[in-house]
This record gives sequence, C-alpha cells and structure tokens, in this order.
Amino acid sequence: MNLNPENLQTISIARRNICVPIREGAADAFEKAVIKASLKAGYLEFRLDYLRASDWNLPLLKRWVELAGVPVIATIRRKVNGGEFTGTEAAQIGLVEMAIAAGAAFVDVEIETIESFLKGRLESFRTGPTRIIASYHNFEQTPVSLEPVYQRLWQTRADVLKIATLARTFGDNLRLLDLLLWGNRDGVPVIPVAMGELGLYSRVLAPSRGALFTYAALETGLETAPGQLTADDLSEVYRIHQIDSNTSILGVVGYPLGHSLSPILHNTAFRQLGLNCCYLPFPVSNLQDLAPHLAQLLGLSVTIPHKVAILQYAARLDGTVKATGAANTLVKERGQFAAYNTDVDGVRSALREPLAAGVQKVVLLGAGGAARAAAVVLLENGCHVTVLARDRNKARQFAEAFGFEFGGLDQGAKYGGDLLINATSVGMSPRTDETPVNPEVLDYRFVFDMVYNPLDTRLLKACRDRATTISGLDMFVAQAAKQFELWTGLEAPRRLMRQVVQTRLGRQQGRGEAIAGQEG
Ligand code: NAP
Repeated sequence: MNLNPENLQTISIARRNICVPIREGAADAFEKAVIKASLKAGYLEFRLDYLRASDWNLPLLKRWVELAGVPVIATIRRKVNGGEFTGTEAAQIGLVEMAIAAGAAFVDVEIETIESFLKGRLESFRTGPTRIIASYHNFEQTPVSLEPVYQRLWQTRADVLKIATLARTFGDNLRLLDLLLWGNRDGVPVIPVAMGELGLYSRVLAPSRGALFTYAALETGLETAPGQLTADDLSEVYRIHQIDSNTSILGVVGYPLGHSLSPILHNTAFRQLGLNCCYLPFPVSNLQDLAPHLAQLLGLSVTIPHKVAILQYAARLDGTVKATGAANTLVKERGQFAAYNTDVDGVRSALREPLAAGVQKVVLLGAGGAARAAAVVLLENGCHVTVLARDRNKARQFAEAFGFEFGGLDQGAKYGGDLLINATSVGMSPRTDETPVNPEVLDYRFVFDMVYNPLDTRLLKACRDRATTISGLDMFVAQAAKQFELWTGLEAPRRLMRQVVQTRLGRQQGRGEAIAGQEG
C-alpha cells in the first residue's frame, strides 16, 4: 500500500483527513460498507472486533484492504476498552498479525495489551511497512494531567499515538489539541479524540492542527464513539480541509443543542461568500465553562438557557437587548463583545406583510423571550396587543411591562383580530399534533407561528383556508441573516440560507426522523 496522499486520486481533498470506521458484523455487509466508505474517506478503520469470528480470515481481509484503496487501520478493540472483542490477548494479537499480513497500513493496539501481553515490546510487528498505533481510551473523563498518558504511549515507541477521552468540559478539547504540539516536538504523529457531544470542537479542528486524521461515521447511526459526526458533515458542513490557523471560529452556545441547524446555515453562507470562517455547536450547560475561551471567537449565537446569562460577557448592549432583556448574539467589536437580539429583526422580517397591510389588533400567545422580541416590534408599529399565557400572572407582568392587555391561554377562543402570533413552543416536534389554542374557532387575517420544526405546524395548516399564514422559518432565517451581517459586515445570502434549512428539515421529516425541538 502506497501511503503517499498524492496517490489517493479517488478521494477528494475534502476527505483526506477523515477516517471512517467499518463496524459491520457480517462479511457481506462489511464488504459493502468498505466500498461505500472508500469514496468518503482518506482512511478506513476495519473494526475487526465487530466482525463475527467465522469471517476472520486472511484472503477476505486481503480483498477488503485492496477494495479500500486507501490506507487501512485494523483495530481489534477489547470490550473493556469500549470494543466488542472478548477473546484472549493472544487471540487479539493473532488477529493483529493477520491484518499485517493482509496489508493493513496501520494496526491499532491498546496500551493495556501492549503493556501486559507484549510487555511493552512492539518489535515483532516491525517486519514490514505496517505502522503501529498505540491507543489509550478513557470513557469516564479527560484526565487532569495528560502528560503521564502521553508518556506511557510514547514509551511504547509506537509510530502513532492515539488518545481518546471523554470531554466533560469545553476546555478538555483544547488540552487534547495541545497533545499535537507535544507530538510535533517529539516527531510522532498524534490522534487526539475528544468523545461526547462536547468534543465536536476538537474533532473538527484536529486535522488543521496537525492530527493524522479525525474519525467520522459512514452514516448517522453507524458511530463507533459518542459524538462522532458523519464524514459528509465533516467535509461538506464544516469543510475541515479548508480550516487553517487563520480560520475565524464562531458558534452557537446552548443546552441542549440537539441537531442544531445553525452550523449548516452559517457555514453555507460563509462558503458562499468565500469567508475563512467555521461555525460550530457548543453544547455547554454551564456558561462559565466556555467563558475563558470566548475571546478567541469572532462571534457567538446564544440560545436557551443562556440568553440572559450571556449579558455579563458583553461590554455593550444594543437597543434590541435593552428592550427585550436578552441577547441571542455576541459580536466582536474592537476587541470586546457587543450583545444583540436579532430575534427582533427576525420578527420584523416575518411580519413585513401584515405590518405593511396595517394590522392593528394583535393577539400574542406566550410570555417568554421570543414573545418579548415580538412585543418590541408590535410596539414600534403602534399595534394594540393582548398577550395570553397559560400562567395568567406571567401574562399580567408581561402586559404591564409593555402596556398590553392580557388574559389566560385557555381563553384563546374568545379573542380575534388582525394578527395571531404563537410565541409558545406548543406544536413543536415531537408533539406536532398540539396547538396553543383551538384553531377551529380562530378568526384572524394573519397567523404567524414561531415554531418551524415542523415547517408546517398544525396551527398553520388549520388556519390556512381563512388566513395568510407565516412560518417560523421566515424568522429563523432572518435572525440568522442579521447575525451573519453583524459578524461579517456583508449582506447575507438569505435565499440560500433559507433553502438550506428547508432542505435539511424537509429531508429529516421526509425520512420520518422527528428531530425534537428547535433553536430559538
Ligand atoms: P421561552 O422563553 O421558554 O418561552 C416559552 C413560552 O411558551 C412561555 O410563555 C411558556 O409558558 C410557553 N409554553 C411552553 N410550553 C407551553 C405549553 N405546553 N402550553 C402553553 N404554553 C407553553 O422560549 P422562547 O425563546 O420564548 O421560545 C418560544 C418559542 O418560539 C419556541 O418554540 C422557540 O423555538 C420559538 N422561537 C423561534 C424562533 C425563530 O427564529 N423562529 C426564535 C426564537 C424562538 P411558561 O412560562 O408558563 O412556561
């Protein structure tokens, strides 16, 4: 196997630093996955511990190594280290030898097996071109000091050192990425892997900092470790091959973040305008965890539950923040952060048609953060507003703050007017059958639902024959476009951004993948 990357002609440059594990149990499925994955990655990892024992044979392995057409890493991970292999260490090493004979470019051997069974000696494997990866796994945490772990691996004299640990804090990503500097100093390639949803930051950035590759799943559902992205997302959404030391990093902080649409939305816009920026999800429950690293970011989207707590990190509050008491955006301005609430711009954009039509009498459902953004826009347009919430007390306080009327959500059928706005989360996936008020009795010219997952809510469907309906997608795209413009000073490609979200949501819904919740 020639490992010169220039020879990997069939693999586009976008995928050369991606390693896709093959983890099928049956030989025919394994082979099909090899063929499919060979088009998606610069490296394939054969997880032989997943393959059933009756299919462990040299001719088959040789054929798959040939079929792969890219360097193959053979791994036989023991159960105690997160794999499926339950045999003896002698049997494990027997399989490693078979993989070497089959032409694997690398074999991955756990530090435990190297130390206990091989007594720290790897010489017996060094007869041919196959290189040895010594690996360390910790599914509980990232140890406070990684130095002893690195030293343990370094002492094996393996060709490549792999350290995979669970990221419990955002900072664990940075400590794992620092290992690349040590490897560079010592002249040994390192593969750091931060497992768990918090580890996405280093999974995306590691190749740009010198990691041999980063692991990615062939498809959603085929992950071999928690937090793994798909190869398509790494190359097409995060464009890891284009990240370098000059790339500006932005992201969205919130918890839980789930399958956030913001990365695909903003990264598509950055690519369209040729900007060297990468936008990542930061699923951080405690904002203080991210706080020491904020200064390195060009900008930040902020979602539930951090929209108020984030204000302490802003040197300046925009009028939209003062009016609503919350921010969804931080923008770097002369080295400090300014806080904005672009949900206000989102509402303004979504309500362009009804406001132009001169709506006056408005009923606003919900008394949370998004309702406040709507209140600001309705006030500036002189509308007469009644706010309805399930908690009448909250509705009253909200109404007093803005000079509105108020009532209970259970009284929704009593009201009517020009415009109805749903600023509650009722109707959002997965509870798509629900509506905040009985839609049969509603009488409005316009109905705006802030929910966009699903794209067509039950409320909108039920009102369509009587009213002009406005989807939450309009607001979502507009608030994101405004963020983009604040960060870059450039006009956002709104139509493209809308298309991308629509396609992603439509595809998920078409496949029956009910992704619960939405950002905002
Ligand atoms: P929030 O601050 O948590 O407020 C949620 C509001 O919905 C509160 O008034 C809450 O009442 C009410 N609510 C929740 N569950 C309810 C239920 N089962 N029955 C009746 N009322 C219920 O959240 P938010 O930021 O305002 O967001 C509200 C909605 O707008 C969410 O669906 C969010 O995704 C959406 N949003 C969309 C965009 C967009 O761009 N399209 C942007 C921002 C927000 P209690 O206070 O009694 O809990």
